[in-house]
Amino acid sequence: MPVEFRHAASASETPLPATAGQALWRGFRGKCPACGEGALFGRYLKVNDTCPHCHEEMHHHRADDFPAYLVIIVVGHILVPLVLAAETHYAPPVLLSMLAWPAIALVSTLGLLQPVKGAVVAVQWFGGMHGFEDAKKARAPTPTR
Ligand SMILES: [Zn+2]
Repeated sequence: MPVEFRHAASASETPLPATAGQALWRGFRGKCPACGEGALFGRYLKVNDTCPHCHEEMHHHRADDFPAYLVIIVVGHILVPLVLAAETHYAPPVLLSMLAWPAIALVSTLGLLQPVKGAVVAVQWFGGMHGFEDAKKARAPTPTR
């Protein structure tokens, strides 16, 4: 029996993500995980209550501090080996190290925070976590005639 994925509250023609990876990628790009078109964020880290394109409710998310923890882990695991390698091989002046590494850490952290939060919200949406249970039930596969 063929199944069709339908979007309950949307007039969007964009198909729903079939996998958590697709939803995650949409969220990482700052797009609504449901339609992939609307902006997920109204401001830097403020998730829109609803998608401006398909009107999917996004206010149920509970990302909390998890994106920040993930960014700390990722940036730390990339930056610490770079610092150690640079200090070992090139021994740059102390003043340069004191200015450059914190700046690189700040830019990379602030640059990754919104995409990682978008990915976390998208995974919560895809998995029906927290208040997203009803949205997940509504988009469950329905048999077609
Ligand atoms: Zn949307």
